[in-house]
Amino acid sequence: MAYVVINKLNIANNARYLLNLTGRAGVEMTSVTKVVCGDPEIVSKIIETGVREIGESRLENIDRIRKSGLSPTFLLLRLPSPQLYRKVVESVDYVLLSELKSLKALKELSEELGRRLKFIYMVDTGDLREGVMYDRAFEELGEAVKIAGQSFAGIGTNLGCFGGVIATPEKFEILLELGDRLCREAGVEIERYSAGNTASLPLIENGTLPRGINHYRLGESIMCGTDVTNNRAVPGTTRETFTLYGTVLELKRKPSVPIGEIGSDAFGRKPHFEDMGERLKAILDIGEQDVVPSGLTPMLEGCRVLHASSDHLILDVTDCPKKLSVDDQIPFRMSYGALLRVMTSHYIIKEYRG
Ligand SMILES: *Cc1c(COP(=O)(O)O)cnc(C)c1O
Repeated sequence: MAYVVINKLNIANNARYLLNLTGRAGVEMTSVTKVVCGDPEIVSKIIETGVREIGESRLENIDRIRKSGLSPTFLLLRLPSPQLYRKVVESVDYVLLSELKSLKALKELSEELGRRLKFIYMVDTGDLREGVMYDRAFEELGEAVKIAGQSFAGIGTNLGCFGGVIATPEKFEILLELGDRLCREAGVEIERYSAGNTASLPLIENGTLPRGINHYRLGESIMCGTDVTNNRAVPGTTRETFTLYGTVLELKRKPSVPIGEIGSDAFGRKPHFEDMGERLKAILDIGEQDVVPSGLTPMLEGCRVLHASSDHLILDVTDCPKKLSVDDQIPFRMSYGALLRVMTSHYIIKEYRG
């Protein structure tokens, strides 16, 4: 069966390195664990490094962490739907919001249940995912302050996720200016300027982070050691955190172009083939149900991912210097997207090291 080897020690080393890096810049770091579905084995190792807060998009993952006996503070990253409000109030400490309606409902519920929930109101600084558009944000933020009162914890922004917009000091200045104005005109104290995710790390690394920004939410850089928005490995971290292994089920020489008229594949895609003559091809026991095939990099020289259907991955292994056989296991490095699906798949066995 296909399995993923999880190097907890290397993940913890990444977390520790980034905790120090952000700490030196006066930035508090929340470790985001949604890509591993809040896996308690991993979370517990991260908490050992001194991380105090976990950022999650799903309440099920928060439950899973809490049930394992861990008690960090929790930041909910995804805007909650009304059916979840009660659960949010019961199990979350900070929540990112961008609608006054949900803020009002959550605030009322938190008073009713006597549990303090703190709100970070999101400002869209151009990436076009969540948040009130920055150029018309002030009024709405003022309303949010009125509704939230003492529970208004600050403002935040998210870049790089939908639009792939790159973080710059100017983007973060927008938050700081809005916050200053709120302090002056609404008399509120801003505990958190929650600016960054992994894509905003360069500002800390090159010393251009505007003073006042004091909170980052980091996932990809801790888990993968990469920063996909800026297309780089994050210096000081390692990418040796997760390795996926698939088993060779079939190994045969076959033509590189299918024989017959070509329609669409199992997913309605029109595959493209280049005629390279006969090639040695391996079929592995991993498919679209387990992984994003385009996010896989074989760690064996001369192997190339060709295509996948629901349960099968096809590799061209003609140029592999190692003599492969059926039943051999081939290791892969994964992109963030591929890792997300692997950790979510029930079918991939998780093996922990370190
Ligand atoms: C997922 C997420 C993050 C973490 O982003 P990375 O790029 O993985 O560091 C931060 N903030 C929000 C709102 C998110 O949804």
